[in-house]
Amino acid sequence: MSTAETSVHDVIIIGSGPAGLTAAIYCARADLNPLMLEGELSSTSDQPGGQLMLTTEVENFPGFIEGIMGPELMTNFRSQAQRFGTQIETVKASKVDLSTTPFGVWVGDTSTETPTYRAMSLIIATGARSLMLNVPGEAKLLGHGVSTCATCDGFFFRNQPIAVVGGGDSALEEALFLAKFASSVTIVHRRDSLRASKIMQDRARANEKISFKWNSVVTEVLGDDKVRALTLKDTVTGETSELLVDGCFVAIGHLPNTDLFKEQLKLTETGYLVTHDGTHTNIPGVFACGDVQDSTYRQAITAAGSGCMAAIDVEHFLESATE
Ligand code: NAP
Repeated sequence: MSTAETSVHDVIIIGSGPAGLTAAIYCARADLNPLMLEGELSSTSDQPGGQLMLTTEVENFPGFIEGIMGPELMTNFRSQAQRFGTQIETVKASKVDLSTTPFGVWVGDTSTETPTYRAMSLIIATGARSLMLNVPGEAKLLGHGVSTCATCDGFFFRNQPIAVVGGGDSALEEALFLAKFASSVTIVHRRDSLRASKIMQDRARANEKISFKWNSVVTEVLGDDKVRALTLKDTVTGETSELLVDGCFVAIGHLPNTDLFKEQLKLTETGYLVTHDGTHTNIPGVFACGDVQDSTYRQAITAAGSGCMAAIDVEHFLESATE
């Protein structure tokens, strides 16, 4: 369907995590010549390849008996998508117009009338990003001891005491990774029981370098040009204390990247895209897959599965549109 005169793509995929790249592999193999806008590196929680670029070992992605490093897995996904002809642009979509078909997608300047790209269908796979604590000192010291990515920054904390905030799988995964470098890792959690899976809990509890600060929230990150300590408040007694650390890793969950679609697509109360009958959104021809529409499972394998579904849904949609 794509022609040079109109430059209308059959399908544009926005986002390049496991969902987007799986959609690309399937679309490319279905001869839909997908164009992928993979995003740009703009912060530690927003990068091409998605959240797996910030993880260490992925042990639960089927097919890798000994596990595989997150970035390596995503590089493989990307190469596989390119092998079948996916056109990948390292740009970030800045605006979409879903009110008419072909849909319009802008990159950069949003004030121009003409979109940068047009497509008969869209697959949204923009994923989710890290939540932050929003306490004094956090933003100022981001990159100077405050981090959301142990893989990226753990190395800088060799033989230093650090804290990880959160009680889910991400927090424990970060803590276990950081324990390889740090002199000690204190997991600061707002309750007295963890949300993380049992296997991760067992591993963290068995690690001599890891200890827990229960019923505690961070109220301030202290330090001038680098982190010196955290102010903690006990949620039961109300007492405050200082925890002397050189690093503070925030791992308290994620927000879906749906700002671009807010006014045009149906969202859940917590901001996730609403899908029905597979990966359909409320606008025919616009499909969503991966973490941007999944607040429940949020696994690489489920994201990849839904990316496959989106590609098949697009194929059916385009077929029926030409009938
Ligand atoms: P999560 O499961 O939502 O856990 C977030 C944690 O942060 C919770 O313990 C929560 O406390 C705490 N929290 C939230 N907001 C907070 C705040 N403002 N201040 C202090 N603490 C706060 O998120 P996640 O750990 O990122 O995991 C997301 C999903 O990915 C899960 O389904 C998880 O299983 C999956 N995952 C899997 C793996 C793996 O299998 N290897 C690795 C990473 C993630 P409460 O418990 O009190 O709510």
